[in-house]
Amino acid sequence: MNNNATGILTVDLDAIAANYRFLSERARPAVTAAAIKANAYGLGVGPVSRTLWAEGCRDFFVATIDEGIELRGLLPEARITVLNGLIAGDPALFRKYALIPALNDLGQIDGWRADCQRNGPAPAVLHLDTGMARLGLPPAELDILADDHSRLDGIALALIMTHLACADEPDDTMTRRQRDDFAAALARLPRAPASLSASSGIFHGPDYLFDMVRPGVCLHGLNPRPGHPNPLRPVVRLQAKILQIRDVDTPQTVGYGASHRVAGPARLATLAAGYADGYLRSLSGRGTAYMGETAVPIVGRVSMDLTTVDITRVPEARPGDMVDLIGPRHDVDALAEEAGTIGYEILTSLGRRYHRHYLGERCGEVA
Ligand SMILES: *Cc1c(COP(=O)(O)O)cnc(C)c1O
Repeated sequence: MNNNATGILTVDLDAIAANYRFLSERARPAVTAAAIKANAYGLGVGPVSRTLWAEGCRDFFVATIDEGIELRGLLPEARITVLNGLIAGDPALFRKYALIPALNDLGQIDGWRADCQRNGPAPAVLHLDTGMARLGLPPAELDILADDHSRLDGIALALIMTHLACADEPDDTMTRRQRDDFAAALARLPRAPASLSASSGIFHGPDYLFDMVRPGVCLHGLNPRPGHPNPLRPVVRLQAKILQIRDVDTPQTVGYGASHRVAGPARLATLAAGYADGYLRSLSGRGTAYMGETAVPIVGRVSMDLTTVDITRVPEARPGDMVDLIGPRHDVDALAEEAGTIGYEILTSLGRRYHRHYLGERCGEVA
């Protein structure tokens, strides 16, 4: 371990592998793909994609064509779909890197068909919008396509997919409605494998699996069903070093805005992590860190590079000791709750200054 690391992000690749196996088991006979956009949710697309490949994952979803090109360099044989669609890049680039475009509207379908007629059939994913109003064919465009399948002539239709809006919520009214609309749409389109569920959708049962599932966040150990026990293994540990300790015996304020006032005798520790590292400013006066089993609350405002915790209950703490910001006693979901956000945002905000350690790294296992 590097001595000059003032912040350490540990990513347990064995846990990611175990989570992939768990989800595959659960989704069988559907194929389990992996959504690894945004640098594998901030954890590092290289180690994460190699781990998933070694576990047998062959289908990957990314957001941008740049992410697709990077992943192609890591996994020469993988099937890689670019969710942002054909508009995200030149058709020639999709072909050059063997990337599969999501076709999100009739214009993109026309564009890919024209390219296929010129250069030969190539795979694409058809994305239908059943309730997100984000990407994907809106219902009116689905009607046009359903009445005229020739608009897909020459396209190798690899998958038809849609995306659930409320899969993580206890009320499943909308989830069921989207599932039924998706099934009805499939019946009106040429036959192709189908995909509905990301992480949370998988836990709605067999009717929600179709031919392929596309989990992202669950691979990284986050809970797909808030309020239920988390069946996945934690992946992330985040530690920050104590830079300085001060014993306060007269009342004084802490940090910018003097928002926290220490009344009586207390011990404060200054940690080397702040909002520039993705330790969100909304954790000011609200977050909890841990030293071993002991909770040490964040006091005052989180600043760019530094955060102050009250370590009065840990008299043995010394400068140089590491404090868990995310760890065995405090997982990503718990931190997200304190920050008023979701675990996805915590992960994808993790900063660049942490020294990254990967447990169980697969070396050279990419066939
Ligand atoms: C991000 C994304 C996923 C993965 O979602 P998780 O909730 O992280 O499992 C799957 N499909 C699409 C279209 C996405 O945008």
